[in-house]
Amino acid sequence: RIELRELSEFMKTTPDLSPSETLPYTGHRIFHKRFLKMQQVLGEGNFGKVILYRYDPANDDTGELVAVKTLKRENGNTEGWIKEINVLKSLDHRNIVKYKGCCSEGGGQGLLLIMEFLPLGSLLKYLPKNKLNLSQLMIFAQQICEGMEYLHSKRYIHRDLATRNVLLDRDRLVKIGDFGLTKHIPTGELYYRVSENGENPVFWFAVECLKENKFSFASDVWSFGVTLYEILTHCDPKQSPRKKFEEMLEPKSLINQVPLIELLEKKMRLPCPKNCPQEVRIIMEQCWAAEPKQRPSFRSLIEKFQEMCH
Ligand code: ADP
Ligand code: MG
Repeated sequence: RIELRELSEFMKTTPDLSPSETLPYTGHRIFHKRFLKMQQVLGEGNFGKVILYRYDPANDDTGELVAVKTLKRENGNTEGWIKEINVLKSLDHRNIVKYKGCCSEGGGQGLLLIMEFLPLGSLLKYLPKNKLNLSQLMIFAQQICEGMEYLHSKRYIHRDLATRNVLLDRDRLVKIGDFGLTKHIPTGELYYRVSENGENPVFWFAVECLKENKFSFASDVWSFGVTLYEILTHCDPKQSPRKKFEEMLEPKSLINQVPLIELLEKKMRLPCPKNCPQEVRIIMEQCWAAEPKQRPSFRSLIEKFQEMCH
């Protein structure tokens, strides 16, 4: 079975899964399940559940806090889960959540992903409660672009960029998380055609993703435009992309994706958020260009935000 083969490959490349603990230093720690003390649930998405634990080998409550992601049993896809862990493990950037290690006791589906804990949580939860000014929001936007440019330089596409998957470290530093849908695009290829179905973040998807299942660097840029829209609305649930698109669609017409595709093909887009500067509105429009080639790269977006922030 492919799952078992993948798991044994993974064990070979992951020091903390190896029977020997005398492996070369990789910067990743060894965690044992018995020292993890549960604190609280941090969040839950379609596939995973993230729980705060204290890693407390001394058993005196002085151990560090870590965020631990597990695969939900009901949607269990061990192969995809191991891929997600391996993607995060291979990334090292200040705007990407840090991998700390994993814990294999239980193997396969029971594999735990251990990452740094970001106490302020996701932008989706933080922004509605903490009114930040525009220049702060633009700094976040620029940092997301920096993390995404790094990800693209490794030829990964994220496919689920949204404020629910952007975490806040200290007040002024954001980090991209949730690599559950991430795919690698081999050199020379332009897009990844997705065949698996499941619950998709359709309101963040570019038109070619909905129509042809074609995901590319440019489709992440589209999702960034939607993320930028969310940031500028301070993630107000009343103005969420889902709410706004549903208002534009006929009632109950969301049984399939056809009405959403038709709407986007008629060049209808999310509205311009209140108090959104002209330059930012133009950026969102460029990210939502019908033709993927017309959309800006994350590099050029970084430059635009730098000009705005200084
Ligand atoms: P899923 O794949 O199920 O969507 P995510 O990785 O997006 O899982 O995590 C779900 C939620 O858990 C996030 O939206 C966020 O609120 C919270 N979360 C995830 N990772 C962390 C972390 N490292 N620190 C704090 N909260 C986190
Ligand atoms: Mg998520």
